[in-house]
Amino acid sequence: MNSLTKLHTLAEHMGLEPSEEVAPMPSASAQVAPCGQVIAPGDIPVAPPKAGADDVAIYHAKLPNGKTIPLLKTLLTSACERDCFYCPFRAGRNFRRVTFKPEEMAQTFMDLYRAGVAEGLFLSSGIIGGGVKTQDKLLATAELLRQKHRFRGYLHLKVMPGAEDAQLERAMQLADRLSVNLEAPNDRRLQQLAPKKVFLTELLRPLQHIEHIRQTQPGHLGWNGRWPSTVTQFVVGGVDETDLELLSAAAYLHKTLRLGRVYYSRFNPIRDTPLENRPGENPWRVHRLYQASFLFRDYNFDLEEMPFDQVGNLPLDTDPKLAWAYANLRENPVEVNRASREELLRVPGIGPKGADLIVMARRRGALRAVRDLQQIGVQTRRLQPYVLLDGQRPTYQLSLFDKP
Ligand code: SF4
Repeated sequence: MNSLTKLHTLAEHMGLEPSEEVAPMPSASAQVAPCGQVIAPGDIPVAPPKAGADDVAIYHAKLPNGKTIPLLKTLLTSACERDCFYCPFRAGRNFRRVTFKPEEMAQTFMDLYRAGVAEGLFLSSGIIGGGVKTQDKLLATAELLRQKHRFRGYLHLKVMPGAEDAQLERAMQLADRLSVNLEAPNDRRLQQLAPKKVFLTELLRPLQHIEHIRQTQPGHLGWNGRWPSTVTQFVVGGVDETDLELLSAAAYLHKTLRLGRVYYSRFNPIRDTPLENRPGENPWRVHRLYQASFLFRDYNFDLEEMPFDQVGNLPLDTDPKLAWAYANLRENPVEVNRASREELLRVPGIGPKGADLIVMARRRGALRAVRDLQQIGVQTRRLQPYVLLDGQRPTYQLSLFDKP
């Protein structure tokens, strides 16, 4: 089997991780695949499948710097000795497996790169011979790309369960981004999903060690003069985990370990796996989890401020920021001309960009009317019930969107 056929075979069998920094919207199409990777609505294949170099899982991916590039997302091997309950690549499942050697993967990617088909690489792997040995192969591929082939483009490397500290530190010198998929929010839930993975020592500790290095070592030691960003992923709905469990973990990951992104992968049953009879998760649940997660990362909200029900789940029909504002700001609206940036960010419809525009504009004079906000580029449809403009409530028509 030649290299392109191998890539094509991998692309046929696996769902892939959400494109870098793309926020998936509710859709029934997302599905969990190897190492918790998903195919998500934000992942747009560049070309439809056909026999050639452009049908090998190339995705439009938005990078942390905002640039969009064609990204090859693939695995070193689709063979795996573990048996995670949600994964189509689990040991013992009957389908054709494909394996690349590091030299072959590096050369194949460079051929695609030089042909202009792919500009970046996301590389993961099934586990064969343990996490440490598999991580060595991922690192060998990355070293070949950076040293032999002089590839300086975007490289996202997966960290295997149980990778050693020295391997993590080497990966930080080679990659732009590292990901460790926690899969579940705590050890109890992980045992129900992937009993051979160990939550604290195999998965969480690598993320903690990477952040320790970022905090204690100068960034110029990292690839391209800075340390890589980190991301993780949870499988949502594969067991009976609550949103409270998921978001407790996410709040810690964003605030303490400074993860760039927590991905939520909607569980979708895979034939011939132990969870094949479990129903797929509601896509709206995933959407609400993303909204709440961004409130921790970008809006300085705390876990306690989320509108959990008695079981510990978010309401599916409510934007959590809107629910918070409805409960807290209707009687105490925010004065746009005096509020701090942090207070402005709590208003529905005002994001980081809108808050900055307001702070700059009011230095030039008071904002007195809704049209003043519109003129500086602030979206006003949702904010009107929750603000004062120069001491006055704007007149607005209450719409369905104003209520949580
Ligand atoms: S370790 Fe688990 S999730 Fe990753 S490829 Fe193997 S079976 Fe799938």
